[in-house]
Amino acid sequence: MGYKNLVDFHVHTDNSCDGHDSLMVISEHAAAKGIRAIAVTDHAECHRYFEDNFHLAIRYSYFETLKAKSAFRGQVAIMTGIELGQPLHDLQAAEDALSANVYDFVVAGLHLVRGETDFWKIDYSNADAPRLLHTYFDELYETACWGKFDAMSHLTYPLRYIVGRENISVNLSDYFPQIDRILSKLVADGKALELNTQGYRTPYGHPTPTFEILKRFKELGWEYVTIGSDAHHAADVGANVEDGFLLLKRAGFDYVTIYDRREPILLPII
Ligand SMILES: [Zn+2]
Ligand SMILES: [Zn+2]
Repeated sequence: MGYKNLVDFHVHTDNSCDGHDSLMVISEHAAAKGIRAIAVTDHAECHRYFEDNFHLAIRYSYFETLKAKSAFRGQVAIMTGIELGQPLHDLQAAEDALSANVYDFVVAGLHLVRGETDFWKIDYSNADAPRLLHTYFDELYETACWGKFDAMSHLTYPLRYIVGRENISVNLSDYFPQIDRILSKLVADGKALELNTQGYRTPYGHPTPTFEILKRFKELGWEYVTIGSDAHHAADVGANVEDGFLLLKRAGFDYVTIYDRREPILLPII
């Protein structure tokens, strides 16, 4: 691939409920593609954390990550991480997940709002999409205020399904005040915004968030953006990161941020 600093800071293994491949296979793919560093961000879905045994899965994931880190030393830097889903829905679960392992990187976001099912499972013929989006951005702001993460994952995640799958048109500018409030909070607290490239590979066709939100984040004066494929298959590790780099450059970013023991490191996008 064309970039020297190719990284992928959002990767799922078969220790995630929806991941398909072992970290060893994923790491082989990453090495073959010349990816410099990956972060393993298997799911901890806090609203069903104990019922669905996420508390065990994240410990297996961590163990596998340490093995792969050692096995691929000198080829690919493999960082320990976690994707905390809706941490405020069960704070005890979030605290368990955060204290279970020593992470390099914590990414947090929302897959559902309180009292609802995951945005990908909702039957939108019976749903009020504008109200759900309004609630989504409110809950994300609350999550930003909670703040026990390094990067906020896939801002505008519901659009993958509402726009991409259901073809319901959304005027994103209706939510700009809410989005601005979230971005400003991230900036104030020194957090990163994630550019998640999975949407490129879905009917939605765009990353989350889109260009205009990245540009706004840059206008607010901040430089910390992470990038991740959100791969659930080994073949997708690093997928669309180059597209994401191009978009970041267009939005005015010169660096991509990676994390080591929760400390940011800025790598030039080259
Ligand atoms: Zn996610
Ligand atoms: Zn993910």
